[in-house]
Amino acid sequence: MQEISTQERAARLTAALAATPGKLLIGGKWVAAQSGRTFETINPATGAVLGHVAHGEAADVDLAVKAARQALEQPAWRLMSAQDRGNLLLRLADLIERDADELAVLECLDNGKPAKLTRAVEVDGSIKTFRYFAGWPTKFGGETLPVSPRSGARILNYTTREPVGVCGLIIPWNYPLSMAAWKVAPALAAGCTVVLKPAEQTPLTALRLAALAQEAGFPDGVFNIITGFGDAGAALVAHPGVDKVAFTGSTEVGKRIVASAAGNLKKVSLELGGKSPQIVFPDADLGPAAQSIAQGIFFNQGQTCTAGSRVYVHRSRYDELLGLVSDHAKRLRIGDGLDPATDFGPLVSDEQWQRVNSYIGIGREEGARLVTGGGRPAGHDKGYFFEPTIFADADGSMRIVREEIFGPVLSVLPWSEEEDLVRQANDSEFGLSAGIWTNDIRRAHRTAAAIKAGTVWINCFNMIDPSTPFGGFKQSGWGREHGRQAMELYSEVKSVWVNLS
Ligand code: NAP
Ligand code: MG
Repeated sequence: MQEISTQERAARLTAALAATPGKLLIGGKWVAAQSGRTFETINPATGAVLGHVAHGEAADVDLAVKAARQALEQPAWRLMSAQDRGNLLLRLADLIERDADELAVLECLDNGKPAKLTRAVEVDGSIKTFRYFAGWPTKFGGETLPVSPRSGARILNYTTREPVGVCGLIIPWNYPLSMAAWKVAPALAAGCTVVLKPAEQTPLTALRLAALAQEAGFPDGVFNIITGFGDAGAALVAHPGVDKVAFTGSTEVGKRIVASAAGNLKKVSLELGGKSPQIVFPDADLGPAAQSIAQGIFFNQGQTCTAGSRVYVHRSRYDELLGLVSDHAKRLRIGDGLDPATDFGPLVSDEQWQRVNSYIGIGREEGARLVTGGGRPAGHDKGYFFEPTIFADADGSMRIVREEIFGPVLSVLPWSEEEDLVRQANDSEFGLSAGIWTNDIRRAHRTAAAIKAGTVWINCFNMIDPSTPFGGFKQSGWGREHGRQAMELYSEVKSVWVNLS
C-alpha cells in the first residue's frame, strides 16, 4: 500500500469533515440532534473551521440514556459471555490500530497537538488500554467468604460482580481519545452501557471511536455518543436513568457534578485538576531531571492534569537546574502539529490562550521573575500558540504556584530544609501526582511516603499504564481509573447468602 503523507491525510480528512454534517450515535443509529442544530469545531493551529458536529442537548441525552438502558437489558449484551465481551474489546483495539495514523492526524487537526506525539502516546495508549481491559471480563468475579453463622448452621456466602448499569462518561479536550478509552474500556469490560459526552472543543476522535465500536460489533445502544456543550453534560449528570457518572475535567465542574448527581444518588468518579510538584534533591542527576521536568510541564503545551507545574529545587543546585530547564524550553520547536518537526503545538482554544496569558500578568505582579516565554511566539500570528514559559523566584503564596493554569507555565522555587520542603509540596488543594529526583534510596521513599498524591514518580515523570491505578488525593478527585480499581468503579458487589441446611 502506498504511504500517505501527514499533509495529504489531513487534507482528505478536512474535505470529508466539511462534507458531512455532524450526527449523534444513539441506539446504533447515526442521527441529527433533535433541534437540527450543529456547531463548529475549530483547528487551533489556524483558527479555521474544521467541520460541524451535532449540537446535542437534553432531549438527545434522554434518547441516548433510554437506548443505553434498553441495551443493558437485552440478552445480546446482558447474557454475552465474558470471553465474547473481551473479544469485542480486542476487536475494537485492532480497529484503532488499523486507523492509528488517521486518528493521530484527526486529533492534531481538532486539538492542535503534534500528530507524531499523538500517534506514539495517545493512539498507542488507547490501543493498550482496550487490550488491557479486554483481559478483565474473564478474570473479574466474586469470592466465597468465611462468614460465622451461629454454630451448627450451614451457610454458604459468596459475592458476585454486576455491571453498575448505564454510565454517563464526560471527558475533557486535553487528551480526547485517551480519556474516552480510559472510561469506555473498563465500563464495557464490566458489562455496562455508555453515553459518552466529549468536550465541545474536541469531539472528532470520540465520534470516530464510536464508529469503530459499531464496526467491531458491539450491540446497538451499548455505546452512544452525544456531542454538545456543558448543558448536555449537565443533563446526563442529572438524568434519573443514569446509574453512574465518570468525569474528567475541572475541579469546579466536578463539584457541580457531585451536587447534581445527588438526585438519584448515582455513583460518581472524578479525575480533576492538579498542581503537581517536582522535587529536586541536591544529589540528583540534573541532566535527566531537567529534561524530564521540561517534558513534564511542556508536553501537550502544559494542558495535562498531571503537569509538573511547580519545581522545588535545593538552593545549592537552583541556578544550574533553572538554566538547564530553560535551555530545554527554548529548544522546543513550535509549530503546526502536522509538521513532523514540531514538538510543541498551539493551545486548544482562544479561551485557553487568554486564560494562560492572564497568568503571565498575575505572576509578574506577584513578583516572580519571568525567565523565558510569556506570550505569543514570534512568527505565529495565526492560531493559539503560546511560548513555553518559566517563572523563577516564585513562592508558595503566589497564585501561579497555587492555581492550575493548564498551560505551558512553570514556576521554580528554591528550598533548604527537607521537612519544610515536604510541607510546601503538600501545601495545595490538589493531590494528583508528584516527581522526586534523588539517588538516595531512603530519601526517595521517605519523600514518596510523605507526599499526598495519587501517583508518585521517582527519577521519572508521567509514566502511565493501564495496569496501575491513576487518580487523585484531596480535590484532585474521587476513585481510581485503570487497574482492578477501574473495574470496581463500573460494577456493584452483591453478597449472596445460602442456607444449606
Ligand atoms: P470543564 O468545563 O471541566 O469540561 C470538561 C467536560 O465537562 C467537558 O466535556 C464539558 O463540556 C463538560 N461540562 C462542562 N460543564 C458541565 C456541567 N455543568 N455538567 C456536566 N458536564 C459539564 O473544563 P474546560 O472548561 O474544558 O477547561 C477549564 C479548565 O479545567 C482548564 O483550564 C483546566 O484547568 C481544567 N481542566 C482539567 C482537566 C483535567 O484533566 N484535570 C481537563 C480539562 C480541563 P464542554 O467542554 O462541551 O462545555
Ligand atoms: Mg477543535
